[in-house]
Amino acid sequence: MKTYEDLEGDGGSNIIGQVVQLGEKLRSRLDKIKHKVALMSGKGGVGKSTVALNLSLALAKTGAKVGLLDADIYGPSIPLMLGMKDAAMQVEDNKLQPPESNGIKVVSFGFFAEQEHQAAIYRGPIISGIVKQFLVDTNWSDLDYLIVDLPPGTGDIPLTLAQTIPITGILVVTTPQEVASSVAVKAIGMFDKLNVPMLGVVENMSYFECSKCNEKHYIFGNGGAEKISEKHNIPFLGAIPLNSGIMEGSDLGKPVMITQPDSPSAEAFTVTAKNIAAQCSIVAAKLQEEMQAETTPPAN
Ligand code: ADP
Repeated sequence: MKTYEDLEGDGGSNIIGQVVQLGEKLRSRLDKIKHKVALMSGKGGVGKSTVALNLSLALAKTGAKVGLLDADIYGPSIPLMLGMKDAAMQVEDNKLQPPESNGIKVVSFGFFAEQEHQAAIYRGPIISGIVKQFLVDTNWSDLDYLIVDLPPGTGDIPLTLAQTIPITGILVVTTPQEVASSVAVKAIGMFDKLNVPMLGVVENMSYFECSKCNEKHYIFGNGGAEKISEKHNIPFLGAIPLNSGIMEGSDLGKPVMITQPDSPSAEAFTVTAKNIAAQCSIVAAKLQEEMQAETTPPAN
């Protein structure tokens, strides 16, 4: 029997060639998507999925074509938040056809009936494979924005994503208190090491605006996201208030951006979405400049 020591080179499997080919396939399939924005947080429960969904809807309201990938395999919550629990993903021409809701295309592991029982037992390589497949084998067509809702922390999925596709930028979601902002900083460190651009930071549950006294109450403290912004030199893109309408809307499958479009909460999402769009254009223009500089021969 031969051992690996008896094989020459890679034994004829061309493993490196295969990996390079797969990488190229991934990139070319996603070329038609202008901006790929991934939302991350240091810890769970800061409202990352709620923010990802309402920002997607706010971007769609500006006329942009938007896709939302719920990459939180262990706890996919987007279908519930959109009232799409019974939606199913069809396969046509070997491609997943993403169901649509309120003008956005949605892909989630939550659309697969068996996930409730199985997700917890999946391990790193399988999870990474599922996310890659969702990215590449979905019929996104041409999108202006693909919003990716990552699971919290610095596990396999954020790592896979950062190494697989050219992400326009990462959006950090945090709440104001130290316990959330300090762990968010660890996740920022990981993306920094991987050279993925930071788009900015969004603070959720920033304050509660009392309808009786019209004053803002800073229930979870003040300034966590601004500190991150200053310390890491990344733009502060918006503050979303703490509001029972946001929570109830999520639980009922009726997002506040749709049901209360004129509310202060929806207004906050709209302003933040506009800042994100501006930031995406800045990052894309910088990238273009860098690419031009690399391909332009130096003048004699
Ligand atoms: P994560 O994705 O970070 O785990 P979720 O988006 O699932 O967090 O939100 C956690 C809970 O907090 C949900 O019940 C959601 O409805 C609620 N929530 C999120 N943001 C707000 C907000 N700004 N005001 C009120 N409730 C919120």
